[in-house]
Amino acid sequence: SVRVRFAPSPTGPLHIGGVRTALYNYLFAQKMGGKMLLRIEDTDQNRFVPGAEEYILEALNWIGIKIDEGQGVGGPESSYRQSERKEIYRRYADQLLQDGKAYIAFDTAEELEEMRKRLEDAKIDNPSYNAVTRMQMKNSLTLSKEEVTERIANGDPHVIRLKVPLKEEIRFKDIIRDWVVVHSSTIDDKVLLKSDGMPTYHLANIVDDHLMGITHVIRGEEWLPSAPLHILLYRAFGWKAPEFAHLPLLLKPEGNGKLNKRDGLLGNFPVFPLKWTDPFSGEQARGFREDGYFPEALVNFLAFLGWNPGTEQEIFSMSELVESFSLEKIHKAGARFMVDKAKWFNQYYLKEKSEEELAALIQLPAGAPADIAPKLVRLMKDRVTFPQEIVTEVPFIFEAPATYDEEIVKSKWNDDARKAMGAIKEAIQGMSDENFVAQSIHDTIFPALEAAGLKPGKVMQAFRLSITGVGKGPDLMLTLEILGKAEVIKRIEKATE
Ligand code: GLU
Repeated sequence: SVRVRFAPSPTGPLHIGGVRTALYNYLFAQKMGGKMLLRIEDTDQNRFVPGAEEYILEALNWIGIKIDEGQGVGGPESSYRQSERKEIYRRYADQLLQDGKAYIAFDTAEELEEMRKRLEDAKIDNPSYNAVTRMQMKNSLTLSKEEVTERIANGDPHVIRLKVPLKEEIRFKDIIRDWVVVHSSTIDDKVLLKSDGMPTYHLANIVDDHLMGITHVIRGEEWLPSAPLHILLYRAFGWKAPEFAHLPLLLKPEGNGKLNKRDGLLGNFPVFPLKWTDPFSGEQARGFREDGYFPEALVNFLAFLGWNPGTEQEIFSMSELVESFSLEKIHKAGARFMVDKAKWFNQYYLKEKSEEELAALIQLPAGAPADIAPKLVRLMKDRVTFPQEIVTEVPFIFEAPATYDEEIVKSKWNDDARKAMGAIKEAIQGMSDENFVAQSIHDTIFPALEAAGLKPGKVMQAFRLSITGVGKGPDLMLTLEILGKAEVIKRIEKATE
């Protein structure tokens, strides 16, 4: 049965591209009735960032991606953190040595640099440690058995390299990109085990995918260049390779290049699921969650970055996505990260929320009575993208206007308007506090204006101005109800003094 994995490296906050990879893995696993694993690829200790693993777990959890096996969940493996599986990789590297598929290399940094210079001087493009050049270097293919044993006994630093065949065609069928054909002469003898005994990404990744029974590797396009090497590794071990699906790049909204982590720091839009503070630099990055996105909206948005169902339907719940998802419907072309589309989804899901849910989500300014929250929600629900805008878009609810929009003053604040303020005030004064609700206010004000010989349509904007300071806004009668009778009268008086 299908087993997929998400295998992030904890080198910083999970980027939104990583979240999409995790989501597609999850959707595929669910669709196929398979399992989704989480493995932490932390063999590069230099790039380890504290807190990053916790961030990954929290982000996946927030988005609603459930992990069946692996880090944070457990399973048959002793650990799902590669840094805790060192002995396993060493064992497999030794196996390749014994089978003649890998070799030990002692070259120092200076020797490697010298080789690079020599090859460059000889105008060899793509100078690398490979089937040709390895024969001039210090390794177990060129040194005597005795010297190798002696050097190891001496504690000379050494690595294990894959013995990439000189002439071999590597071909595999990627589910998204179709046939990929690469010649082995373009691949260098990659280091598999470093001098500190740590495996490189390539070795650890292949050994783990094999041991963990991974059937499908679904990952970003940036890993496509590594795939031929991975195929070679599977061959060297004599293992069956999993199927591959390389997901299209995420592009900047303008389409000019790859979306990257910097884009999240520049302030235009978030590219991280949650807020992040870099533990070294103190740099802050915004998160979708803190910006007020709903996980459902983000999931729906991400699902469409590289995939579509082939129908007109745009709104998909997680379970509907599972139902419709297939790897075959993923595109090859890069997907532009249109953050306006994410907002559009968010607005949709916000409208789906109940009044109570939204009221519980918003934060009122200090001193505001808590019971106005549901009314504010009713007032603003159809006009906002993010929950907190229900509060921030209506500052006049919490404070009387200090200034009045000058354009509106010029065009609307005339004799009729002044007369109207008088009529409205008088009408409102006759209302009881309990009855001061939108519908009754309307049914009181409008006849009063008619009776005074005024057309409500002509003076309403001036009235709105006196209450809110601006010429446009949400339903005025409900605004008045929220403000309360006394406050409304105060504001009319202030505007007309
Ligand atoms: N550790 C790699 C990453 O950070 C995993 C790549 C893969 O899925 O093979 O994306």
